[in-house]
Amino acid sequence: MSQKQIRVRFAPSPTGKLHIGNVRTALFNWLWARKHDGRFILRIEDTDRERSERQWETSIIKDLRWLGLDWDEGPDGTPDGVGDFGPYRQSERLSFYQEAAQRLIKDGQAYYCYCTTEELTRRRKQQLASSQAPKYDGRCRKLTAQEMSAHEARNINPSLRFKIEGDKLEFNDRIKGKLEFDLAAFGDFVIMRADGWPTYNFAGAVDDSLMNISHIIRGEDHISNTPKQLLLYQALGYEAPCFAHLPLILDHDNKPLSKRDWCSSVNNYRQAGFLPPAIINYLALLGWSPRGEEIMGLDKLMDRFSLDDVGRSSAIFDIKKATWVNSQYIRKLGVSELTELCLPYLKQDTRFTETVAQADTEWLKQVIEAVQPELDTLDKVTEHAAFYLYDNIEPLLEAEQPDISAEAIKLVKALAEKLNEIEQLTAENVKQLIQQLKTESGATGRKLYMPIRLAMTGQAHGPELVELIPLLGKKRCLQRLHQMLNWL
Ligand code: GLU
Repeated sequence: MSQKQIRVRFAPSPTGKLHIGNVRTALFNWLWARKHDGRFILRIEDTDRERSERQWETSIIKDLRWLGLDWDEGPDGTPDGVGDFGPYRQSERLSFYQEAAQRLIKDGQAYYCYCTTEELTRRRKQQLASSQAPKYDGRCRKLTAQEMSAHEARNINPSLRFKIEGDKLEFNDRIKGKLEFDLAAFGDFVIMRADGWPTYNFAGAVDDSLMNISHIIRGEDHISNTPKQLLLYQALGYEAPCFAHLPLILDHDNKPLSKRDWCSSVNNYRQAGFLPPAIINYLALLGWSPRGEEIMGLDKLMDRFSLDDVGRSSAIFDIKKATWVNSQYIRKLGVSELTELCLPYLKQDTRFTETVAQADTEWLKQVIEAVQPELDTLDKVTEHAAFYLYDNIEPLLEAEQPDISAEAIKLVKALAEKLNEIEQLTAENVKQLIQQLKTESGATGRKLYMPIRLAMTGQAHGPELVELIPLLGKKRCLQRLHQMLNWL
């Protein structure tokens, strides 16, 4: 017997930027599909006409593409490996919802409701005032033909409500286990608005069925929608998919990660220089536990990922850990690729735009290689590579009062003279040279190294002088030593 194909979907509403929590949802769906040789579908849920905007759809798609979360089909068919193909958009599928709505009316499972927004709000307030849980009171369920004509005569466009029957509903969530709902708490709910557009629950249920979705993997904030959707599948004669509700992502104060939080926006990661595979790797760990090594590329993730290892409890977003994961990926990059990725950050920094433009590529690569272990995000390259690329060291001075004693001046002068005599600086001859300085001046430790380091980098700490000096090269070193003498 052939097993049913795994088909999952990511269904964002284009009402704002892609939130990192939604990326995690997209990722778990994507991994589940990829692992099982299934299909991953992107469906834009744009039936909220007031809040949906095409610019948000574009931005969501850009983020998904940047992260490498590709989808497998669209309204124009399946990809042939050439060019783009669009996502499904609910706004382009209205006829499917209208057809399903007509079926429900015909079967007596949905009815027109002529209550106006004002009437509904008033009744809701009354219910709240008398300590009742607010729900639709069902008054349009049994309208006579005469009453309906009277409403029509008032020119009221009706909405369409789904009739809730039964008392209890339960389902087995793949992650949360058995969940039970008291249907008495739900009033008959709107499935088509008065303007002829479907509501989220209705459009989603119709699409999930028509698209043969096998698993609905989404945030647990959607658990409360599930009973309504299950009732709709049943009423429409569709088989219900398997539900897997993912634990929430919380911030350090145990509050759901807010849209205003820096960590929630994909664009912030892109700008700071996070690498897509690092974000993917970190997000995979939010709620899912790999039982073992945590750093793993896509292939391993696909291989190991399982809904069975997704926990029930909320996950805390830890930007420090995300940054650490990113540093691990930066370390693995080859120097050419890393240099390419760092260049935009360097070029943007007006302090070295010119140096970078004129720099020899091989030399630039050596600089990037030297700072590679220090980078946890790419944007830090401007900070760590500054003293290589920025010849005016004085503004970089870390020590408020650099050690510029008479001995230090003598040392710097002596070093300049010695450097002048060497043709090509190497780790070896720089080592000898420093040794000579030590013997001649009698200075050791901090007294010996600090003036040189300050002159070369402006920083109290940094790479070994024997590595730094050859990399800076003779011309730059001399220029910096003379510059230091001018500070005095
Ligand atoms: N459009 C819904 C959202 O963005 C999708 C929920 C679902 O996956 O069913 O939250």
